[in-house]
Amino acid sequence: MKDKQLSTTILHADRRDRIEHGAIHKPMHVSTEYAYDDARELAAVFQGKPGYTYARQGTPTTAALENKISLLEQGKGTVTFATGMAALSAIFLTLLRKGDHLVSSSYIFGNTNSLLGTLANFGVEITFVDPTDVAGVREAIRPETRMVFVETIANPGTQIADLENIGLLCREQGLVYVVDNTLTSPVLLKGKDVHASLVMNSLSKYICGHGNALGGAVTNTGLYDWSAYANIYDDYKKGSPDSWGLTQIKKKGLRDMGGTLSAEAAHKIAVGAETLALRMDQSCSNALALATYLQSHPGIASVRYPGLPGHPQHERAATLFNGRFGALLGVELIDGIDCFDFLNALEVVILATHLGDSRTLSLPVAHTIYYEMGAQRRAQMGIGDNLLRISVGIEDQQDLIDDFAQALDRCMGK
Ligand SMILES: *Cc1c(COP(=O)(O)O)cnc(C)c1O
Repeated sequence: MKDKQLSTTILHADRRDRIEHGAIHKPMHVSTEYAYDDARELAAVFQGKPGYTYARQGTPTTAALENKISLLEQGKGTVTFATGMAALSAIFLTLLRKGDHLVSSSYIFGNTNSLLGTLANFGVEITFVDPTDVAGVREAIRPETRMVFVETIANPGTQIADLENIGLLCREQGLVYVVDNTLTSPVLLKGKDVHASLVMNSLSKYICGHGNALGGAVTNTGLYDWSAYANIYDDYKKGSPDSWGLTQIKKKGLRDMGGTLSAEAAHKIAVGAETLALRMDQSCSNALALATYLQSHPGIASVRYPGLPGHPQHERAATLFNGRFGALLGVELIDGIDCFDFLNALEVVILATHLGDSRTLSLPVAHTIYYEMGAQRRAQMGIGDNLLRISVGIEDQQDLIDDFAQALDRCMGK
């Protein structure tokens, strides 16, 4: 899908299914239960006929958003969740069992890392590998391996996984390939293009974009043959095998675990998604300009950004991400500058966690999101005390650069 088509598709998706009174937004359906005039019809929906019964399992409003995410990812189907973490929990807990082996990238979101720790306590074996080279994944595979999990751009190190080759390896080995596409969004990458089986997007980030709603989604690309997967319950082996995995995620993960997206949040995310392509363009262009500016500044020790030619996976990013490089920067200040003083000197940039917001956000990594893991693990991961994460927003470019310039001047006594 070209970008032009992407925005048009999203803006007009709801109208394609006629909505009452010519409404252009899918209404927020707030009913908990759905009533039937005919008891046989009620039973039929329970037995698999498309329809709604109880809102924990979805509403017309979440279904409209799921349709949009499927369009964005060019997938076969999507299930939404209350948060990205609920979506990831549903994938891991419904598709893996005790004794199974999972190969995971070691460069993953901190909370996902913590979730995998919980999974390990339930008896799932996990091997962490460097995902920037498919060789590490290949070596880790063993007979019990069922799934490989990677993120597209790592946070905050900005390493880029060998997405396509890992996808080919998973296909060859019959493994479920799960790609967390949050940092790139479907504008930069479609999971399908790197042979993913399932794509997870945190909707709280770029897709919503306005910092006013949480959500998560799992999209089935249709590329995996679930009839070859050992852990599908007989009840869910109905219809085309390419959808069995998502059915199990919906039944076990959404219905049983209950991390359901509210209609209100689904509406806000759907409105945010209308401008996703525009916002991604502006954020990525701002990020490249800011990275280029900071890289040559004497107050900066290093800049990690895939758009810089010196980045180890710059070429890969240029090939995979449609000529854009994301909007997340890892910036290390020189030793002489205190990271807290520097952050306090910023006027436009907001000091907050979160990423993918329309506003530029920054925080000191070692002291916040990576604090819990301790100094030793941080050292292994190359996370110094003076490293800042910057999630670049859609502000006017010069205002952003000026803000960093004045803060650096102040900290360097100019
Ligand atoms: C934020 C994030 C998540 C979790 O999403 P929430 O909606 O905050 O639960 C998962 N993966 C990545 C890469 C993220 O950045």
